[in-house]
Amino acid sequence: MGSARVKSILMVLATLAAALVAPEPAVAAPIPNDAPAALIPADPTPEQVGRALARIARDSHGRVRTGTVGRTNEGRPIRLATVGHGPTRLLYVTQQHGDEPLGTPAAVRALWTLGVPDTPWHRWLRGRVTIDVVVQANPDGAARDQRYNHDPSATGEYAEPGVGYDINRYHNPLTPIADNPVPESVAILRLWRATRPSVVVDYHMQGRYVQPDGRETTASVLWPTSPLAPESTRSKQLVVHNVERTTAIAGANVTRYPGGDYEGIARNAYGILGSASMLLELSSIPDVEFQIRTAFVSMLATAQGAADGSLWRTDAARADSIPARGPFIPPAEADAA
Ligand SMILES: [Zn+2]
Repeated sequence: MGSARVKSILMVLATLAAALVAPEPAVAAPIPNDAPAALIPADPTPEQVGRALARIARDSHGRVRTGTVGRTNEGRPIRLATVGHGPTRLLYVTQQHGDEPLGTPAAVRALWTLGVPDTPWHRWLRGRVTIDVVVQANPDGAARDQRYNHDPSATGEYAEPGVGYDINRYHNPLTPIADNPVPESVAILRLWRATRPSVVVDYHMQGRYVQPDGRETTASVLWPTSPLAPESTRSKQLVVHNVERTTAIAGANVTRYPGGDYEGIARNAYGILGSASMLLELSSIPDVEFQIRTAFVSMLATAQGAADGSLWRTDAARADSIPARGPFIPPAEADAA
């Protein structure tokens, strides 16, 4: 082999190596949001969710598939929507707590955005990842604007007697499914076992909190903290990736959520089962569009990061510098502010 040939091969290898180690830009490719504004209201009824998903299934020519993973105690469908056909599986869950709605319109917009347009970027993404979304996991609670599911016979821990169960305390993977009294949690656990997602993100809402520097927390995040979770590196990468993208693209101010270690919490349960797992809590600030945008960016950035691998090149140690959430702002003071 001539020296010129060797030299040119070395140059190609050097270029490839440089490309592999090149730092990521602070902001990835701009995240499109072309979903029609009238697609879904901010706090949709279960019927409005059903109509929006049916429209997306039709407008995407089947690229978004809709179905159900179970039925509530009142017979409402627990809705699943899926986009993509790639080998890496992601699972997003919204509105386990019926009175915390904003993850649901974000998911509907994300499904539209990933499934209806058909550019090379969309085809690339859908070929890399399969995204399952349990959209409005607690439709009976959503219909009542309540945290719990609907089960007047609910008793025991994490139950509100005469009302129902806290769905997000019934994902304990150590509890036999037959002993789990919460159909919504059972449906999500069964879906996890059927799909074995690499990534699980659970979308909730919290009150309002102010940091010592006077800035208001717009969202809080946390990885699995159960001692039973095998390791947290990939979960922390997921969290750091989300914090950096939602901050850069949506302008979020993200802090660490002070969550518990109980294994029935979805964040812990799916970490114990082996997924990179994360909780995202949107604060109840008046600007609901800003919050829907934050969750939407989280959903798309997580998908993009899983598709291009940038998620797993994120520095997990940066999770330790996410500031603790500041003090609660009582509603009266928040209203006056
Ligand atoms: Zn919640």
